[in-house]
Amino acid sequence: MPTVPPLSDPACIFCKIIAGQIPCHRLYEDGQVLAFLDIGPLSRGHTLVIPKAHHATLDQMSDALASACAAVLPRLSRALIAATGVEAWNILQNNGATAGQVVPHVHFHIIPRTRGDGLGYRWPAGKLDPNDAASLVESIKRSL
Ligand code: 5GP
Ligand code: ZN
Repeated sequence: MPTVPPLSDPACIFCKIIAGQIPCHRLYEDGQVLAFLDIGPLSRGHTLVIPKAHHATLDQMSDALASACAAVLPRLSRALIAATGVEAWNILQNNGATAGQVVPHVHFHIIPRTRGDGLGYRWPAGKLDPNDAASLVESIKRSL
């Protein structure tokens, strides 16, 4: 039985998966990270990578835990390429309901893509205003 990490939310579906209370198709696991197949895949091989500690959104994670999650992305990407034969994939990470997050436990989607699969993101690109950019840089840097 997998160990339950100290930071766990009993109401969280992903914490229940980590604890082994809800089954999943496990792909990879280490002390800090779990990867498993998404139950509602957008494409074959759609995978979720999650920290074992419960954090609702990325900003709440330590740099070290975020690094532990990111560290497995290249390896899992290579394995998914080998297993599915795709040449393209997206890493998607939603924070907050407005951004499309449904499960409030940080997760990285790995979504294999094939030409003409109809998936995508609305991307109505604007134009960066140089004055606003300067003030944005100042205020963001102050908060770093
Ligand atoms: P979000 O919209 O929060 O970024 O994505 C949540 C993802 O979790 C969805 O793609 C959904 O299919 C997946 N998911 C939700 N519940 C479960 C579950 O019980 N098991 C697995 N394997 N995936 C789940
Ligand atoms: Zn959780």
